[in-house]
Amino acid sequence: MSIDLRSDTVTRPTAAMRQAIAAADVGDDHLDGDPTTRRLEARVATLLGKEAALFFPSGTMANLAAIMTHATPGTEILVDADAHVVNLTGAGIPLASVQPRFVAPTGRTISAGDVRRALRPPSRYSPRLSLLSVENTHNGAGGAVTSLAELRDIANVAAEMSVPMHLDGARLWNVEAATGIAMSEYAACAGTVMVSFSKGLGAPVGAALAGTMELMESAWHARKRLGGGLRQSGVLAAAALFGIDNHRDRLSVDHANAARFAKAVDGAGGARVVPPDTNIVMIDLPASMPADGIARRAARQGLLVSVWTASRIRVVTHLDASTEDVDEAARILREVVERG
Ligand SMILES: *Cc1c(COP(=O)(O)O)cnc(C)c1O
Repeated sequence: MSIDLRSDTVTRPTAAMRQAIAAADVGDDHLDGDPTTRRLEARVATLLGKEAALFFPSGTMANLAAIMTHATPGTEILVDADAHVVNLTGAGIPLASVQPRFVAPTGRTISAGDVRRALRPPSRYSPRLSLLSVENTHNGAGGAVTSLAELRDIANVAAEMSVPMHLDGARLWNVEAATGIAMSEYAACAGTVMVSFSKGLGAPVGAALAGTMELMESAWHARKRLGGGLRQSGVLAAAALFGIDNHRDRLSVDHANAARFAKAVDGAGGARVVPPDTNIVMIDLPASMPADGIARRAARQGLLVSVWTASRIRVVTHLDASTEDVDEAARILREVVERG
């Protein structure tokens, strides 16, 4: 069996999680609300300090529904060029009939100053701005955390522009684990927040969007249009609730494993490791080592990694990779890279 560090989405439901799924109380969510889904939505709303939350089959759909909820067709949304919603959803944004305008980060992730620099002076010719979307942790930047102070500054820029802010917090759980600051503090900066259950929490699928009752009413219709209205979704919600109750407190283990991995691999064969804030490790390879070749050779030795760019590979620690697995993974990658 290979050690699979391509993503924290590869985790399989544990035996205890499967028991929770089997025992879930269910009903037709689309008709009159599924009891377990309702319980999950209430739990997430409380954790994020929002009035309401809505369960989604995926984070991708929840982010798109958030854009459709906030942004009028024919307007523009501000988003960083390396955002998940830009790079990893096919071409999802155009489905909301809006165009993205990219914010270039000067650091690892966008700052309030970067957002300010991306703003245009008002003009009849320019598209109207309807939303600012921010990602925390930032996947493409290697699980980077945007600090609460920076996020508040960014929210202030959005408020000055009178545009709402959406937070793609697929891994906001990891932000909380890394900083010790409650998720609700980060969530308070944004009108809507998406959190994923199928990353660090280890559920098979699912995400939630949270915000005001009014926004969630609109998001319900967006979800409907996207075909995301579910029936006995309690079987999925039960897994998410189990993940929140049992796997949230152990995310710091993933972070410690990522730090061990980074330390063990940095410098090997000229590889440069971006110091991880959370559970994602980006490894920049020397020009002589194409990332796909390194990934193929690591796979032959029993380690699966993601090819992120032509010269960068990504490793993600998770629930199904023990500290011993991660140490073995570091040994394999070091050996592959040192052979060049
Ligand atoms: C995984 C991820 C998503 C999408 O979640 P899915 O449930 O896989 O659709 C959105 N944003 C970020 C930052 C992610 O990492």
